Amino acid sequence: MENLLGTGNSKLVKTAKKFDVKINNFSIPAGNDKKSGKITCPFAGSCIKLCYAKKGAYRWGNVERALTRRYESSKEENFVDRITWELSRIKKNKQLYIRIHDSGDFYSPAYFNKWVEIAMRNRDVRFYAYTKSHSFIRSKFIPYNMDLIFSLGSTNDQLIDQETERHSKIFYSAEEMIDQGYTDASEYDLLATKWFTENNKIGLIIH
Ligand code: SF4
Repeated sequence: MENLLGTGNSKLVKTAKKFDVKINNFSIPAGNDKKSGKITCPFAGSCIKLCYAKKGAYRWGNVERALTRRYESSKEENFVDRITWELSRIKKNKQLYIRIHDSGDFYSPAYFNKWVEIAMRNRDVRFYAYTKSHSFIRSKFIPYNMDLIFSLGSTNDQLIDQETERHSKIFYSAEEMIDQGYTDASEYDLLATKWFTENNKIGLIIH
């Protein structure tokens, strides 16, 4: 059976090395295909224009097909079991982090609940995600080993309390980001998470 968890993009590899941890990822296609009904980023707004997951290697045929298979698997009843089984095989001595969605987003409350269940069944693994689906996540129970960063660029940005809620914002320069009091997570992904940065304001420089 095909693995659902990947080894991640170059930023994740670099981050894992820097912090001496293990990082794997799980991704689904980016954007919304209204024709086929495949809605994987239901609250994507202005981000679509800048989305790195809609270009480059993400558009290669084999990568697109793999992301689609992962999306299909996420809808299956055995998704939680499959991910938990894979986690049991890749857990090593190092702290394991799972970056949920370097492409795609929580596309429904039911799908989000599956990740909550996975986190609860794997307390020794830390899960994190950037998400624009905060409108249905905000009221949910979030296990302590899960961290969510609400990202600006959605159709629901006005719902984010930018003082109290961990969120991310795209910048065109480091100066602008620092002036506005944001912590730079452009180079190392884990700096966006509560385990490494207390600041709720996470900045990313566009590339
Ligand atoms: S929500 Fe994320 S993955 Fe989806 S289109 Fe926007 S930036 Fe890309």
